Amino acid sequence: MKVLSEPAIRRKSRPVRVGSVQVGGGAPLAVQSMTTTNTQDTAATVGQTKALMEAGCAIVRITAQTTTEAKNLGAIKTELRRQGLDIPLVADIHFNPSSAMEAAEHVEKVRVNPGNFADSKRFAQREYTEAEYQEELRRIAEAFTPLVEKCKRLGRAIRIGTNHGSLSDRIMNQYGDTPLGMVESAMEYLRVAESNGFQDVVFSMKASNPVVMLQVNRLLSDTLARHGTAYPLHLGVTEAGEGEDARIKSAMGIGVLLAEGIGDTIRVSLTEDPTKEVPVAKALAIWAHERWNRGMELPQPLHPFSFSRHPTRPTLYETLVIGGEEVVKVGLFEGDYPHPRMAGGKETPCEFVLGTVPERGLSPNQKFQIVQAEELLAAGRQQARDLEAANDKRPIILVWDARRFTQDNVQLLIEAAVQVGGLLVDGIGDAVVVRSTLPAQRVLQLTYNILQAARIRSVKAEYIACPGCGRTLFDLESTTQRIKAKTGHLKGVKIAVMGCIVNGPGEMADADFGYVGGSPGTVNLYVGKNMVERGVPTAESDERLIALIKTHDKWLDPS
Ligand code: SF4
Repeated sequence: MKVLSEPAIRRKSRPVRVGSVQVGGGAPLAVQSMTTTNTQDTAATVGQTKALMEAGCAIVRITAQTTTEAKNLGAIKTELRRQGLDIPLVADIHFNPSSAMEAAEHVEKVRVNPGNFADSKRFAQREYTEAEYQEELRRIAEAFTPLVEKCKRLGRAIRIGTNHGSLSDRIMNQYGDTPLGMVESAMEYLRVAESNGFQDVVFSMKASNPVVMLQVNRLLSDTLARHGTAYPLHLGVTEAGEGEDARIKSAMGIGVLLAEGIGDTIRVSLTEDPTKEVPVAKALAIWAHERWNRGMELPQPLHPFSFSRHPTRPTLYETLVIGGEEVVKVGLFEGDYPHPRMAGGKETPCEFVLGTVPERGLSPNQKFQIVQAEELLAAGRQQARDLEAANDKRPIILVWDARRFTQDNVQLLIEAAVQVGGLLVDGIGDAVVVRSTLPAQRVLQLTYNILQAARIRSVKAEYIACPGCGRTLFDLESTTQRIKAKTGHLKGVKIAVMGCIVNGPGEMADADFGYVGGSPGTVNLYVGKNMVERGVPTAESDERLIALIKTHDKWLDPS
């Protein structure tokens, strides 16, 4: 992929070298992924790194939980070099500054998590005096400075990688688990780096909720601009899960930011074989470069840093109320299907049929504002602004014209997630109609999945599942699928499936229930952030999870 020109819309970031790859400074978006092998297994990790590279990955991250694993990064690097594979590696560090120090000897970039680099997580609630807070900052500087100095000396980059749900107690008590808390947490580390004259920094702000992920990256970009710098940003929706839902969440979070010009390197995180992440990330990168090269401009979001629904008045459409506080409705266009409410002899979940009949109030200036476009995101933002300026409270029906997509593929998912999801996460849209040549059932399923990913309307259970890494204690993909099959009908319930207790509980974000690898062959079960059952044998784990859901009155028998 080649950047033909520097499009005006792309955020100008400073270039940071990660070995042979430049990140930021107008360089092509670098696609990343992460190995799931045991870091001490050199052959397996080299093999998976090679597979990721062949799939199109530019940078590979490897976990280094202890100094033993961190040391083995040296052997991995040597073996990759021996095979003629020059791919920059990133060590993923949690809780362990000495692993970071060892890893910096061997790899081109070290990722630290400000939530746990110098702090251990206790979920403690307490007040900090100003003097205590300053003492905590001094402690961070003491823990982080040796790594900064070493990276500076060896020419390594550092990723300051903050995750929603994985913030230090100090930040949680001061700011809560908010985008502002995430940004401040990262800025504390940046100040230490800069005070040591170190600027080879890349940031990441990840969340499993695409809405939070969008807001926090915009806030960081804005904060850095006010700080007078533009470090590159690595984008990703973490713990997105697997299958179409995970792809939509990633495409929504990453895609909308890229459309806004934000982002220098990306990872699509899936609870699947990591090589499956790469084609989705590559498709997003190609899509973004095409937009930038065409100089596609986009109006600013209405509410970049927080969610607020664009106010409209509830209005009757035939027998259905659209707008106001009503849930966002899903319809089909009457001309696209002979019988929109029926498909293949089965009733579709279509809630209304949009037509052009004037008495339905669909003509301009009547009861509804219809936004219909292929470039729906830009049109929707502009029209919502115009309506707000005119204090016009007509409900907005979003009609995304996707008829140019004849294939049900990742390109369709990306565009749908960005064009429709990008408006919903900004509070714009009271009803959604996707115009398509695909079967009606499929179009409706896709639309509902987008509403679910945008956290606008829950139509099924929500899963937060980590992608796995060298710490994973069970087969994440099959476990997630098994739990999904048993609990997928629990509308509105959020279930986390996490591979280990080291990071799992911290990164489950706002899950109602957690299924977390405790030790080989056992899991720990959580309600919110509290562990309620420890060491449950895997064979009993599904039933015990279901029993827990029942105890908390969230269970419904599948119909
Ligand atoms: S939660 Fe999952 S991805 Fe994160 S460290 Fe544990 S096993 Fe690895």
